[in-house]
Amino acid sequence: MTVFESYNKTKKELKNSGIADYVFEAKQIIKFVTKMTANEILTNYTKELTKIEEEFLKNITEQRKKHRPLQYIIGEWSFYGLKFKVGEGVLCPRPDTEILVDAAAEKIRENGAKTVLDLCSGSGCIGITLAKRYEDITVDLVEKYDIPFNYTKENIELNEVKNANAVKADIYDFIPEHGYDIIVSNPPYVAADEMELLDEETKNEPDTALYGGETGLDYYVCILNRYIPFVNDGGYIAVEVGFKQGETVAGMFRAAGLKNVEIRKDFSDIQRVVIGTVNKV
Ligand code: GLN
Repeated sequence: MTVFESYNKTKKELKNSGIADYVFEAKQIIKFVTKMTANEILTNYTKELTKIEEEFLKNITEQRKKHRPLQYIIGEWSFYGLKFKVGEGVLCPRPDTEILVDAAAEKIRENGAKTVLDLCSGSGCIGITLAKRYEDITVDLVEKYDIPFNYTKENIELNEVKNANAVKADIYDFIPEHGYDIIVSNPPYVAADEMELLDEETKNEPDTALYGGETGLDYYVCILNRYIPFVNDGGYIAVEVGFKQGETVAGMFRAAGLKNVEIRKDFSDIQRVVIGTVNKV
């Protein structure tokens, strides 16, 4: 089977199994199996796959047809141009979360924020992206669970960031040693009645990274209750929110006394990030 034939075959099989993004995913799979870049594939499309590559392709396609997330199959995923190791037990980095990185990055660039705390860091994609981009800031990433904590640590090493530290702690009892200019978080925020409605892939991701209590808002309550004293004067809290939570969380921010509360939308025009300022005086 040639590279081109295997691409078409993969596309067709994924499509028949109801994989929405089958064109993109088939490309990713062929790149992964042949170890070729997109350009190399274009110039080598008549090349025959080796027997080993064919077996490998078959194995991957079977896994994907059972809706194991492609991110887990490949074992790494890119987020904002950086690579992150992922696997069962950690939430896969999503493009929507780049909006949260943008919000924090803006405050680092424009307002000179220097210290960042990333709560519920998971793969570490938010804090590590910021640390990599701005070498003069320091970022602490807090994660409670063993598997994601290990990914946070591994991804700090993989991306060779010297200005990021992983801290193993539960955000419900973590006590920071100092204040921060920005607190960022993509906490679990899926409400009880929405857990069942998640797509097959997301159901393969850990509940501990998704379930935000009955209303999905538990972690925002915790962040606002516990962490405002740990935001430096004029600093920020920025969180990712679920598709129906923007106004509610913005209301919670205002009720907690935050100023200049803004809601930012993602690429699909869905309210995705809430950010506000903590003024102490
Ligand atoms: N964005 C994820 C989803 O809707 C949820 C992630 C989270 O709870 N932080 O599938």
